This record gives sequence, C-alpha cells and structure tokens, in this order.
Amino acid sequence: MATLAGIGYDSHRLAAGRRLVIGGVEIPAERGLDGHSDADVLTHALIDALLGAAGLGDIGLHFPDTDERWRDADSIELLRAVREQLGDAGYRPVNIDATLACEEPKLASFRDEMRTRLAQASGLDPSAVNVKFTTGERMGFVGRGEGIAALAIATITEA
Ligand code: MG
Repeated sequence: MATLAGIGYDSHRLAAGRRLVIGGVEIPAERGLDGHSDADVLTHALIDALLGAAGLGDIGLHFPDTDERWRDADSIELLRAVREQLGDAGYRPVNIDATLACEEPKLASFRDEMRTRLAQASGLDPSAVNVKFTTGERMGFVGRGEGIAALAIATITEA
C-alpha cells in the first residue's frame, strides 16, 4: 500500500488583544496570533500537510479567509473536516511531525496537550503525532517576536 507525504508551512503575526491558540491549546500569553480564524498556526500547517499528501490543494482553497463562515473558526474543527475529506478521498493519516518556531512564550510544557488535541482531530494515536519547538535565535520575524511560524509533514495511506 502506497504511503504519500505532504508538507505544510504557516506563519501568523502576534497581536495584542488576541487569544494564543496553538495546536488546539489555548496558552496564557499577553499577545495572541492574528488572523481570520483563531490563527492556530500549527494546526494550519498540519492541515496543509494532510491536504498536500492527498493532492487536495491547500487550506485557503477549502476555508477562504474571505468567507465569514470561517471568522474566528476553531482550527481543530477545520482539521477534523479535512480528516473527513481525506476519508472521502480514500485516505487515512499515518503520522504527523511538526516544528513550531516561536521565541516566546516557552511552549514545551504544552506539548502533550497539543499532541492529544491534534491526534484526536486527525484520527491518530498521540504517539503518531510529534511536535517540536525551536526559536529564531533572535533572528528574523520569529526571533524579534513579531510572529510564530510552523512547519509540518504528514504521511497518509489508502484507508
Ligand atoms: Mg494560517
């Protein structure tokens, strides 16, 4: 049975007065990620990785930010919908790996909660969902604390 791989990348700006939601987990912070939905950068990268593996386009195609339906959307629900679309296309996720680039706050203590949330929405065991954390070493938009970026890879197989 063939295994297919896809990649995803996303970034969002940090802004005052916004919630910080990453990997489906709300994190106490002074600033949150700005965007049309809840701007969950990690979940968005993961959605693009899954869509990429299945050859189904990208998140903007399925959930356009011009559509009021997706304003303040819970990205975990979008991930769940993508998992269903994959199923309709005859695929199921096998594993997911992601890297989050964030200067602060420190997020490693939320790793297990993120893995659990992402795994539930993807129909995977948490052991098949890995989340890694790095910083920008004070360089670029991540390093200056202007935003957070995420990179993900997913593999899928025939359901
Ligand atoms: Mg996004």
